[in-house]
Amino acid sequence: MTKEELWQATLAQLQFQISKANFATWFKGTKIASISKDNEVIIEVPNTFAKEWIENKYKDIILKIVHSIEPNIKSIVFIISKEKSKKEEEKVNKINENQLLFSDLKINPISNLSSKYTFENFIVGSFNELAYAACWAVSENPGTIYNPLFIYGGVGLGKTHLLQATGNKILNLWPNKKVKYTQAEEFITAIVENIKNNEIANLKKKLKDIDVLIIDDVQFFAGKDKTQEEFFHIFNYLYQNQKQIILSSDRPPKAIPAIEERLRSRFEGGMICDIGIPDFETRMAILKLKCEQNNINLMQEVLEYIASNIQTNIRELEGALNRLVIYSKINKKEITLEDAKKILENLISSPKKTTDFQTILKTVASFYNIKEEDILKNVRLKEIVKPRQIVMYFLREELKESYPSIGRKFKGKDHTTVMYACKQIEKLLKEDPTLNQELNLIRQRIYSASL
Ligand code: ADP
Ligand code: MG
Repeated sequence: MTKEELWQATLAQLQFQISKANFATWFKGTKIASISKDNEVIIEVPNTFAKEWIENKYKDIILKIVHSIEPNIKSIVFIISKEKSKKEEEKVNKINENQLLFSDLKINPISNLSSKYTFENFIVGSFNELAYAACWAVSENPGTIYNPLFIYGGVGLGKTHLLQATGNKILNLWPNKKVKYTQAEEFITAIVENIKNNEIANLKKKLKDIDVLIIDDVQFFAGKDKTQEEFFHIFNYLYQNQKQIILSSDRPPKAIPAIEERLRSRFEGGMICDIGIPDFETRMAILKLKCEQNNINLMQEVLEYIASNIQTNIRELEGALNRLVIYSKINKKEITLEDAKKILENLISSPKKTTDFQTILKTVASFYNIKEEDILKNVRLKEIVKPRQIVMYFLREELKESYPSIGRKFKGKDHTTVMYACKQIEKLLKEDPTLNQELNLIRQRIYSASL
């Protein structure tokens, strides 16, 4: 068996043991470089971050498969492809302005998609694996398997990236398909404008030509009744004609306030996937990918410092990296851990993040699309009572305030009312997993708001 055949046979087995998404991400461009005299297989991978990732996650499975095909083989090692490592050497600290930032914007005027978002530059870990696999599947078979596809997750965790990558991939596979990406807010404005000018029929006609409609951040539909109605009709038309619809939101359909029931049930009618928070290893992989893409070399300990301190937002990871790059460019020096700590001081808050009453109140009110003053007043509507209890719960949990002091913030409510509210939320949390998700999303926003 030649080394090429051995690698083919290995990959053929491997792809059944790991998810399709991970297989595509990590094993493209790999090969067996050689097999040494003492039966060690030397596997070439395209870059450093792929090397580390594969070594950490897949080395054992690969060795097992290779060994089952060629029993002589007892060990494997990974090396970085030569062409690439030469390039890596050259790039040490050679940073120029064009490479500086991640926002090399090329937007396709028809689809509205930016070419910078691809599956190839998207890191997959357990936090987003399901969403990635669903998007991948949809891109291979638009309009047939998961329709609509609904992706949700907190701020800066890759929803827009994933949606746009899916659109780009579809255009790649089917250049004749009409793909349209739009932010919900833009889409709402377009609908409102067209209603005003009596041109809604025109807009609908244009939309009906589309094969794939991607709408980002649909939580903004909350409370926009007329728009929801028009969108409902557009949605039905596209859906009935097997056109693919892909949606994202910062929360699951159930938790979007002020949205018509029939629209919510449409959102829930296909596949719903969430994106969680990346673990440390994945955050490192993301940082390494970004360094790679931007031809930057940073010390391992600096990357580890960023990855351990920025945990819940990939956009902030990128932001931290940007700052270091700019600093190193201006000062023409390699960044040490001490430099990094100084430069990122106000981005990386102390390990225990802090917040305050106003932020909690504001965040909860905006999450549920209600007024802050209604939360504070004695309004007894169901839509208000739960958010009010949640504010009380957060004041207790996050700020460790006493029951009487919380009560005073709510027009002098008795401390037993506050106690009851906190108990009530704790009880609901045990019964209702979606409430748990909801509170996590709110908590994430509370802390990103007060950064
Ligand atoms: P969201 O829409 O959920 O707020 P974005 O898609 O805008 O988040 O992601 C924020 C930034 O992080 C973008 O620059 C995006 O390219 C990057 N990013 C997010 N997820 C990943 C990932 N899994 N791998 C690589 N980059 C990512
Ligand atoms: Mg987004």
